[in-house]
Amino acid sequence: MRPNRLETDPSPARPAAEDRSRPAPGPGSSTRTPSPRPGPLPMAGNSALSAAADRTEPPVISEFMQTALANPGLISLAAGFVDQESLPHQDAARVAAEILGDPVEGRRALQYGTTNGDLGLRRQLVALLERNELVHAGTFEGLESRVVVTTGSAQLLYLVAEALLDPGDIVLVEAPTYFVFLGVLETRGARAIGVAIDEGGMRLDALEATLKSLEARGELDRVKLIYTVAEHSNPSGISLAESRRGPMVELARRWSRRHRIHILEDAAYRGLNYEGDEPSSVWRHDPEGETVILARTFSKTFSPGMKLGFGVLPADLVRPVVSLKGNHDFGTTNLTQLILARVLADGTYERHVEGLRAMYRRKRDAILGALAGEFAPIDGAVTWTRPRGGMFVWLAAPVGVDLGTRGAVLARCLERGVLYIPGSFSFPAEPGPVPTNYARICFGVAGESDLIEGVGRLAAALADCMDPVA
Ligand code: PMP
Repeated sequence: MRPNRLETDPSPARPAAEDRSRPAPGPGSSTRTPSPRPGPLPMAGNSALSAAADRTEPPVISEFMQTALANPGLISLAAGFVDQESLPHQDAARVAAEILGDPVEGRRALQYGTTNGDLGLRRQLVALLERNELVHAGTFEGLESRVVVTTGSAQLLYLVAEALLDPGDIVLVEAPTYFVFLGVLETRGARAIGVAIDEGGMRLDALEATLKSLEARGELDRVKLIYTVAEHSNPSGISLAESRRGPMVELARRWSRRHRIHILEDAAYRGLNYEGDEPSSVWRHDPEGETVILARTFSKTFSPGMKLGFGVLPADLVRPVVSLKGNHDFGTTNLTQLILARVLADGTYERHVEGLRAMYRRKRDAILGALAGEFAPIDGAVTWTRPRGGMFVWLAAPVGVDLGTRGAVLARCLERGVLYIPGSFSFPAEPGPVPTNYARICFGVAGESDLIEGVGRLAAALADCMDPVA
C-alpha cells in the first residue's frame, strides 16, 4: 500500500510511511476491516465505502501542497507544477476570444461534444505526432480513429487501468515510478512490481528476470501491463534509452502468452528536451499498433489548467476505453479542445514549447549548478541525476540516511524552509524493501534564485543529519 503522510499532518494515524507490510491484494482479497456488529444508527466509520474507496489513500501530493501553502517562505521543490510565469494566458485569451466571438464556433464550444473527442482536434494530434516522430505528413493517416481525447493524461491512465486490470492483476513499473499511477493501481486492487532502472531507464534484463520469476511462481497470466515514463521521467529525470525501445516492445510481445501484455508509454514530458533531439517514442516501435498505448498531455507543454490529454490506443482497446469514458464524463471539455486545436493548427503551440525549453534549460542548469556547488565538500556521498529534459532531479543520499516522511531530514528541511518529495512514494511495495534514501526535487515551479537557495537549505539539512553516518 502507499505510504505516508507528513509528520505535520493532523489527520488520524495511517500505516507508517515505510510500512509496506500490508499484503498486496490478491484475487478477491480485501484490505477492509471487518464490519462492526450491527448497532444503533448512525454508524461510525466508513463501512458504507466500497472496497476500492476504502483502500484508496488520499493523494500524496495534496498534503505536500498544503504544507507549502501553510508555510509562507518555504521554498517548495516538491509539487510538480509548471512555471507560473510561463503560462500562455495571452495566447489562450486571443484564441478563446476568436472561438467565442464566432457564433457557430462559440456555440459549438459551449455544447457537449463526442466522448472520444473533437475530430478536428484529433486530426491535429495526429499531425503533431507526425512532426514529433519526424515522419512525413500523412504517414499516420487514419490514426485519428485510435486517438481518444481525455481530461489530462491522468484520465487516460485511469481508463487504461480500468479497462485492463482486475484485482490481483500485475503491472510492472519502473522503480522508481510516477506515484500517482501507483495510487490508480491501488484503487484497482492491482499489484505493482518494481523493475530496477539505470541511467538508460528500465533495465530489460531485470524486466525479463521479473517475468521469469513470475512464470516460475505460476503468476505470469496475471501480468497485464508494463508502465514506463519513457521521457525525462517523473520522478527520476531519466529517459528510456533509444536502444531499449524496440527490444522492450519485442519483449512484451514474446511474453504475451494467454493474453497480450501491453506497454503503457506515459510521455507526459515529451517535448521538454534541453539537450539534443528526443528519440522516437516506444509507440513508434510497434508498427502493428497492438502492444503500446501512448499517453500524452498538454499539461506540461501548454497549460495544466486546460487539463487536456490524449491516448493512442490499439484498435481493440478503443471501444472499451471510450465506453468507460462515457461513464466518467461522456467527453472532455469542448472549449479547451477547440482552443488546443487552434493553437496546434496555427503554430502557436510549437512556438510556446520552444520558449519553454529555453526557460527550463536555464532552471535545470541553475539547480544542477547549485547541487554541484553545495555537495562538492562531501564528494560523492550524495548523488543526483542530470536530466536532459523534464523538471525533476532524483537525489540519492547514502543508505541509512532517512529522507522519508518520518525521517530526520524532512523535519530539518521544514525547519530550514524547503520541501521535497520523499522518494519512497515512488516505489511499489514489491519486490521491496522500499528504500528511504531518495528524494524527488522539482525545478519546474521555483525561480532560479529560489532554486539555488532551496538547494542550499536542503544541503544544510542533509549535513545536519549525515554527520552520524559519516
Ligand atoms: N504522467 C506523469 C508522469 C505526470 O507527471 C503527470 C502530471 N504530474 C501526469 C501523467 C498527469 O498529468 P495531466 O493529467 O495533467 O495530463
